[in-house]
Amino acid sequence: MPRTLPDIPLRPATLLVRGGQNRSSFDEMSEALHLTSGFMYESAGQAEDTFLGKAQHFQYSRFGNPTIEALQNKLAALEGAEACRVTASGMAAVHAAMLSHLKAGDRVVASRALFGSCHWIVSTLLPRYGIETVFVDGADLDAWRDAFRTPTQMVLLETPSNPMLDIVDLRAVCDLAHAAGAVVVVDNVFATPLLQRPMEFGADVVVYSATKHFDGQGRVLGGAVLGSKAWVNDVLQPFIRNTGPSISPFNAWVILKGLETLHLRVPAMCANAERVADFLDARPEVVRALYPFRPSHPQEALARRQMTAGGTLVTFDVGSKENAFAVLDGLRLVDISNNLGDARSMVTHPATTTHMKVGAEERARLGITDGTIRLSVGLEDVADVIEDLSQALDRIARPAHRQAAE
Ligand SMILES: *Cc1c(COP(=O)(O)O)cnc(C)c1O
Repeated sequence: MPRTLPDIPLRPATLLVRGGQNRSSFDEMSEALHLTSGFMYESAGQAEDTFLGKAQHFQYSRFGNPTIEALQNKLAALEGAEACRVTASGMAAVHAAMLSHLKAGDRVVASRALFGSCHWIVSTLLPRYGIETVFVDGADLDAWRDAFRTPTQMVLLETPSNPMLDIVDLRAVCDLAHAAGAVVVVDNVFATPLLQRPMEFGADVVVYSATKHFDGQGRVLGGAVLGSKAWVNDVLQPFIRNTGPSISPFNAWVILKGLETLHLRVPAMCANAERVADFLDARPEVVRALYPFRPSHPQEALARRQMTAGGTLVTFDVGSKENAFAVLDGLRLVDISNNLGDARSMVTHPATTTHMKVGAEERARLGITDGTIRLSVGLEDVADVIEDLSQALDRIARPAHRQAAE
């Protein structure tokens, strides 16, 4: 009876269903939930050998746990990465990936369009520790080139970005970054490993919020960091082991169950998102609708080179805060929530929620207007989502300049 997967190349759907399982001596079908903080040793000698690294044995769930390891192995196989560590949240993953690698005197270059908390780490936290940080417009290769005139230790970028769905040219930026001596970290939350595998374009480290599409059903927080065996074991693991951003085995188990359907959920959400983007683009109340695989997106060609589908998010502008609030408050089905990647469709108003703290000036640089709405498209019947958006848009007046253009 096979306890482990055959040692042959398997496709993503198969890896999502079956990858990574650490089957115990009980031959359970579903992954076992090892909800335990510690492990016992058969002898003092075995404990010593384990701490010496001579014996393979779990020690303590802050360092390792069979359920957590199953999730790490599944994600590494899916990403095509040598190694993975999962963490309690996506932000714990980003923080560990950066702080494990950096020291005082180092320099970080980041794309400006980052998830709010990632932006805070780069703009506020790292400088406190004597790390120089520089933001660039992720779409501007000359700006990246300029930034790399000074030796740089790490790059953090997000593509597509939150919430404006900007695309960064992964191959070009990785080549420039490597020439400057930097390790490139890509936040791949919006694409998921099914739509984009940044390591194929040269990225060294990929980070995820497992809270989003991996769980995909709004239950638990989680994060993941993927990279080479050498970097994960020598740089990341000592940091995680000694600082403790560890995930609960229960949450790891929930994410394992979520991943079994990722390859069904994400393409269905992308198809729905594309339909919603078409609908929004045709509505006169919508000043602009952005979706990476639509001709109206300024970087459609680049998005198609890097991604296999446009993603599960649509960002659109209804002209003013007043209109945006009227649309959000008018929705009867779609929820107002700053979460994303869920089976339920959700909208948020970035200027007053996720991107409130970055300030008006930075929002203007990022292209986030007071009328910008971010919509995470879920798994409902898309006709119901479109009808809901339609009745909510009916409530607002057309922005003046659209009327003038007609
Ligand atoms: C949600 C998110 C994070 C943070 O993940 P948490 O699990 O909420 O800590 C980081 N980056 C992006 C792009 C995200 O969407």
